[in-house]
Amino acid sequence: MNYSDLTRRDWMKRLSLGAGFGVGLGFWNENEAEADLRIRNDAPPGQLAQNLETPPCRLEDGKIIRPQSPIPKISETDVLVIGGGAAGTAAAICAARAGAKVTLVERYGYFGGLITGGLVLKILSHRATGNQLVGRGITEEMLQRLEKMPNGLDSDYRKTEPNVDAEVYKYLLVEMISEAGIDVYLHSWALDAIMDGNTCRGAIFQTKMGPQAILAKQTIDTTGDGDIFASAGCEHEIRTYWIGLVHRIGHVDRAAPPAGTKKPRGLGDGTPIPGVQWVNMSGPDGNGLDVVTLSKLEMSHRKQIWKQVQEIRNTPGYEKTFLVETAPQIGVRVTRVLRAVHNMTLADAENGRKFEDCIGIGGAWFGEHAAWEIPYKALIPKTIDNLLTAGRSTAAEPKMSELVRVIVPCWVTGQAAGCAATLAVKNGTAVRNVDYPELRKLLLEQKVFLG
Ligand SMILES: Cc1cc2nc3c(=O)[nH]c(=O)nc-3n(C[C@H](O)[C@H](O)[C@H](O)COP(=O)(O)OP(=O)(O)OC[C@H]3O[C@@H](n4cnc5c(N)ncnc54)[C@H](O)[C@@H]3O)c2cc1C
Repeated sequence: MNYSDLTRRDWMKRLSLGAGFGVGLGFWNENEAEADLRIRNDAPPGQLAQNLETPPCRLEDGKIIRPQSPIPKISETDVLVIGGGAAGTAAAICAARAGAKVTLVERYGYFGGLITGGLVLKILSHRATGNQLVGRGITEEMLQRLEKMPNGLDSDYRKTEPNVDAEVYKYLLVEMISEAGIDVYLHSWALDAIMDGNTCRGAIFQTKMGPQAILAKQTIDTTGDGDIFASAGCEHEIRTYWIGLVHRIGHVDRAAPPAGTKKPRGLGDGTPIPGVQWVNMSGPDGNGLDVVTLSKLEMSHRKQIWKQVQEIRNTPGYEKTFLVETAPQIGVRVTRVLRAVHNMTLADAENGRKFEDCIGIGGAWFGEHAAWEIPYKALIPKTIDNLLTAGRSTAAEPKMSELVRVIVPCWVTGQAAGCAATLAVKNGTAVRNVDYPELRKLLLEQKVFLG
């Protein structure tokens, strides 16, 4: 038979006979009918292919037009978590443990977001005044597991703000996500929410197979940048903030500067690997959603880092210092922040305000800082249903985002969002109507500290 005579269904039959994408790995839960919709006009590897079915974009009177075409549904799930950083991984793991069928989607090939891809290695905000441990639940579990792994943490989290190793944490997340039985799609960049009126029903993703859809009963936007809540029509703010690029340098422990040598700039903070330091960068204020800004900063930050490392190497005793790596992911701190049912304020945190829907507690950056409560309403959009956020896009005024955006509150809000979404699925309610006493009970079962 001539290959051009084959229909798409024929191709899929052939694919499912062979080692088709994901088939037999026990990793994806879709059935064959769904798989049938999945492929985008491509033939199996090694065969002649030509796209005759999906019309490409066309130029019309100087405008670029994207034609409408149906999008294949790759999967259907209870809880769809979009973005596998601190908040998203916590949300997915905690939702799966609470009994939901969970799908986690991430644009890159690894989990951890800014911690692993951005090389942000210092864990902040799990302790408050008087060394009170407020980061428990999934936070403490992760810290405990990391400290048991070779080079996981560089110090005791009960007494300090430890630094974590990015590769160890990447591996731990793979382990925890696998244990929880979560369906995973990596290399999948979420584009748009799928809306049914005011209710979010999932999202579509760009992949190398073309756009794919995942339908969900509940969706959690943990992209950090609110990509999905923005597309769903949720009210939000767009903020500019410092955009830096972190790097790691090596051989620092073996530096032998002659007495009186001035310590060079840019030696950074320790890591669990002896002699390797991570070097933070504030960077200029910019819009972390703007692709031109991001492209320019990727270029100029690398030049600056290179120059800084050469300056260190030109310092007597530091000649053998070397650049281990620049972060694969640029350090975007804050972009879109949800305007939620409740927006957190610094005054509330400083005054120790109690919330009747408290879902977790934050601590200090460094030093002394009283514990502060996080209300569930800061994760819920004002008008759109069955969509939550967590992590650095959680609703907070700018000064309060400073506290909310660090790693531990991202784990804390992620855990709460995962639990709340699961209860909404179990009870068939909108996520904004989740019964707080039931949510509190589940969070306490998952060992979250609620004061
Ligand atoms: C330079 C810098 C230094 C910092 N220093 C510290 C520090 O010392 N200590 C501290 O505690 N905190 C620090 N922070 C803050 C902290 O690291 C982050 O705010 C926190 O890790 C954010 O977690 P998150 O899960 O909300 O977002 P992210 O870590 O940004 O995770 C979002 C995830 O979603 C994915 N994603 C994004 N868009 C899409 C999409 N459309 N489709 C699919 N996937 C998508 C991303 O790839 C990523 O994996 C720092 C931040 C920066 C940038």
